[in-house]
Amino acid sequence: MTRPNEIRLPADLVPGDGRFGSGPSKVRPEALTALAATGAGYMGTSHRREGVRSVVRRVREGIGTLFGLPDGYEVLLGNGGSTAFWEALAFGMVEERSAHLVIGEFSSKFAAITRGAPFLAEPVVTEYAPGKCGPLPADAAVDLYALIHNETSTGVMTDIVRPAGAAGIVAVDATSGAGGLRIDPTQFDVYYFAPQKAFAGDGGLWLALCSPAAIERIGRVTGSGRWVPPSLDLSIALDNSRLDQTYNTPALATLFLLADTVEWMLDRGGLAWTADRCDRSAEIVYGWAEARDFASPFVGDPAARSHVTATIDFTGVEGDALCAALRANGIVDVEPYRKLGRNQLRVAMFPAIEPDDLATLTRAIDFLVDALV
Ligand SMILES: *Cc1c(COP(=O)(O)O)cnc(C)c1O
Repeated sequence: MTRPNEIRLPADLVPGDGRFGSGPSKVRPEALTALAATGAGYMGTSHRREGVRSVVRRVREGIGTLFGLPDGYEVLLGNGGSTAFWEALAFGMVEERSAHLVIGEFSSKFAAITRGAPFLAEPVVTEYAPGKCGPLPADAAVDLYALIHNETSTGVMTDIVRPAGAAGIVAVDATSGAGGLRIDPTQFDVYYFAPQKAFAGDGGLWLALCSPAAIERIGRVTGSGRWVPPSLDLSIALDNSRLDQTYNTPALATLFLLADTVEWMLDRGGLAWTADRCDRSAEIVYGWAEARDFASPFVGDPAARSHVTATIDFTGVEGDALCAALRANGIVDVEPYRKLGRNQLRVAMFPAIEPDDLATLTRAIDFLVDALV
């Protein structure tokens, strides 16, 4: 039998770019070239000076335009990625009790943080089985509702709407959905993400689009006397963001790559363009999986199938062997989320990933399945 890593794909079955990982995801080569072209003018210069602050300004203004933020909404940023932002939310936005929609690994992690926080009441958790989703009910005792736009571990996307009858603020984990999925800003108070997913950037940073209600909440909670670690203090992040800075030193390359991609998106038509492109990619990947005997979309409800991260189950062929054969041909990071434990491939379809490359990937998998079984 042929060993997976010895199979060679014909040249016409090798995508132009073999990066299909869900995060870190493909970084646009043009963005890297632009970064290198800054030479001695950017990297290695002070983040308190205009050179870097102007890049932060491009990020904040560009993102405000991209998402069509209403008056009074602000773009906050800080270090530590979405994981650190969960902790910042627990310290600085949950007054007493949060409610969580849990549909996979990432949404469960934020719920675990509020459950562990000694200064918060037990969170209300509404959980759905992996691959599924449903509503988060309103609860009079809750002051923050935690939703998720795209559950990266299972490939489920959700419609972001305020829970019916909810009085509290709505915080949305959009780490992998932001930039690739449509969103109505009036339906959230906090929409947070990191640049290494749909924004084709690098990790280590969090960004949060905050409504006036969210900003008011930050002032109230951080001013309540609760001890908040300064690096997770959202009132400090707010003050610094308004000056186009971060509280402590950011990764300058991360900021640059993000600014470059935000402008690349805006130049092509903004979120309408990126979301259309992700729709097209999803049609290619799910359409292919549905037409094959050996593959099927993991998420049953077509409306919940993510348009940015596809999860495809396989039968009669080992996903591990497919991944190994793809990797040997320079096609990387389509392994499934480990803890899901399925015979599956997970394929990112972020805006920077060419739909044509996804079509080529599906043909490459057809070829490999033939060779492996
Ligand atoms: C990747 C991811 C995170 C964690 O992001 P980090 O920047 O690595 O902390 C959180 N939530 C979702 C939905 C993700 O996809």
